[in-house]
Amino acid sequence: MTDMFKGYKGKALDALKRFKMRVWSEAAIDTTRGEFKGIILPRSENDDDQHLVLKLATGYNIGIAIDTIIDMKEYGYKEANYKIPEKEFPTSPNKPGVKLLGTGGTIASRLDYRTGAVIPAFSPGELYGAVPELADICNLTTEKLFAVFSENMGPEQYIALAKAIGKEIEKGIDGIVIGHGTDTMHHTAAALSFMVQNSPVPIIMVGSQRSSDRPSSDAALNLIHSTTAASRADIAEVMVCMFGPTSDEYALLHRGTRVRKMHSSYRSTFRTIGDIPLAMVTRDKITPLRQDYNRRRNDRKVNIHPHFEERVAMLYYYPNMHPDMIDALIDHGYKGIVIAGTGLGHVNKPLYPAIERATRAGVAIYMTVQTLWGFVHMFVYETGRDMMKKGVIPAENLLPEVAYIKLAWALGQTKDLQKVKEIMLTPICGDITEGEPYNGYLIFQGGIPEVEEFIKKYHK
Ligand code: ASP
Repeated sequence: MTDMFKGYKGKALDALKRFKMRVWSEAAIDTTRGEFKGIILPRSENDDDQHLVLKLATGYNIGIAIDTIIDMKEYGYKEANYKIPEKEFPTSPNKPGVKLLGTGGTIASRLDYRTGAVIPAFSPGELYGAVPELADICNLTTEKLFAVFSENMGPEQYIALAKAIGKEIEKGIDGIVIGHGTDTMHHTAAALSFMVQNSPVPIIMVGSQRSSDRPSSDAALNLIHSTTAASRADIAEVMVCMFGPTSDEYALLHRGTRVRKMHSSYRSTFRTIGDIPLAMVTRDKITPLRQDYNRRRNDRKVNIHPHFEERVAMLYYYPNMHPDMIDALIDHGYKGIVIAGTGLGHVNKPLYPAIERATRAGVAIYMTVQTLWGFVHMFVYETGRDMMKKGVIPAENLLPEVAYIKLAWALGQTKDLQKVKEIMLTPICGDITEGEPYNGYLIFQGGIPEVEEFIKKYHK
């Protein structure tokens, strides 16, 4: 097989040959499902022979089933060279120093045309080559700590990150940016919020929903906004910085313990839950939306608490959950369970005996709500009261993922369940709030006139 047909075999290879097509052909493909235009991408040796892969002008890749192809015509040829130019980052003495710690994810990715998959590829020179504006904002140095998609982040990485942040702060950095996959960014944001306390500088997590080879990529702008915030924001907390609206007008800074990924593909996927965000960021301005944040300081004091108990689980309750779910956790030596319960914090009666067995065995059980917004209230219904009698502790308005991370962090420090409870129920960094403001809960419903009116103004 020659490179002309890279990765194609069997039926797919026959089809390419039959219609005189090749890899990197700009192709018009007539199929039983309509006409498609795009560039034929190489495939991996391990892929099937039933499809060819086409990159559309929108940047999306689609697979076309060979059986549906009626005709194909090459109207051009465009061999891709996706190597990002590497340039040395220019520094200037009056710019703030920002450290970018890379963990992987789409923000550090480009498309691998051999497999069609997005792969992590992070290098400092590439970053400057791709986003030269960064040099106007700060003196950027980078360190690749990991190169993983964020589903692979876990305690080992949280702890390494927390320690790396501590070192950078001691060395005198003005702000930290953490490049991270978006999928579990809110877990890591929570872990760092608990592990890195009293930071004198902003610690900003950033990712991107669309990789940099796609026209609608948010990678460059997110980097610009996050480095701007790390350089200049007066807010010295762990935050997430990502697209605010669906357009690219501004980014929002979300507090690390009140933020959640809420959409699988929108660039504006991160939302502050049960509160309002900390600030808006544009290329030239940071506008705080509230005043109750930790201020930037010049000293280099920071407290790193790198603890994590691995045997903690989160159970998302569903009707008809069987008690053996909890039994299994007890039998496997789990020390803590966070339940995301229904409504005000409920589970069904058949779980009661297992819950009782767990708390008697010394397993710490905390209740959160799967509604995400609002507090757990276990005094309102009999179910709640019954469960509290069995030792389940209501976790106020800790978000379920945040409660999971906090419980693992607390149990990593002490086995004394009374102390764990004190840690869990004492707000550390906005993880538990006194109340949720009326504008902390905004879920618009499209279709109704007032919302359509509003959307017209902002949805471009
Ligand atoms: N799956 C990727 C990750 O979380 C998605 C992203 O980076 O946005 O690592």
